[in-house]
Amino acid sequence: MSEEPAPKSIPESSSSAVNGGRTIEECQDMIQRSLRNPTVKFLRQHLEKAGCGFGDKFIKAVHCNKKIAGGYVRGEGILVCSNHMNIQDEVNQVIIHELIHAYDECRAANLDWSNCAHHACSEIRAGHLSGDCHYKRELLRGYMKIRGHEQDCVRRRVMKSVIANPYCSAAAAKDAMEAVWDVCYNDTQPFDRAP
Ligand SMILES: [Zn+2]
Repeated sequence: MSEEPAPKSIPESSSSAVNGGRTIEECQDMIQRSLRNPTVKFLRQHLEKAGCGFGDKFIKAVHCNKKIAGGYVRGEGILVCSNHMNIQDEVNQVIIHELIHAYDECRAANLDWSNCAHHACSEIRAGHLSGDCHYKRELLRGYMKIRGHEQDCVRRRVMKSVIANPYCSAAAAKDAMEAVWDVCYNDTQPFDRAP
C-alpha cells in the first residue's frame, strides 16, 4: 500500500472491480468466508509450519483510494480493498495472492521488497500459483483465451505490480522479471508438498 513505507510493502494494481464494491463490514464477512477456502487453509498451514502463523486480525478490510485490490505489509498483514471487491472469488484471490507473498517473506529472511528482482520473483509466483490468470478470470477481465495466455497474463500483472514499486523503473522491472522468470515460475513451493 502506498501509504506505508515503501520497502515494507508491496503495491498491487490488480483490481478488476468495476461496480460499486463492498462496505468494510461486508468485506470482513467475505474475509471470514475466505478462511474456509481450501487453498487459503493450505497456505495458512504452511505459514504456520514455517513459523509464520497468523491470527484473526492479520487480514483486514480497508477502503482504498488507489485502484488496487489489496496488499501485503511486512509484519502487519494483508489488506483487502473493500470498495474494489464485489464477489467472494475476488476476496479469495486477493488473500491467496498476498499469502504467497507472506510465505515468500517467511521462507527467505533476506527478502528485500525494494529489490526489483526479489519483488518480481514473488509476483511471478503469486500470479502463477494463485490462479489469478485462470482463463475464466481472464475472460471476465475481457481478455480472450489464447494459447500461452497464462504466462502472458502473469507477465502483464507482474509488470503492473513491480512498476508500482518506487524502487523499480519500467525498464528495471522488465529486466528483473525476465532475469528471474524461469526459476521463479517453476518454483512451486509450498504447492509441491503435502500439507
Ligand atoms: Zn502481488
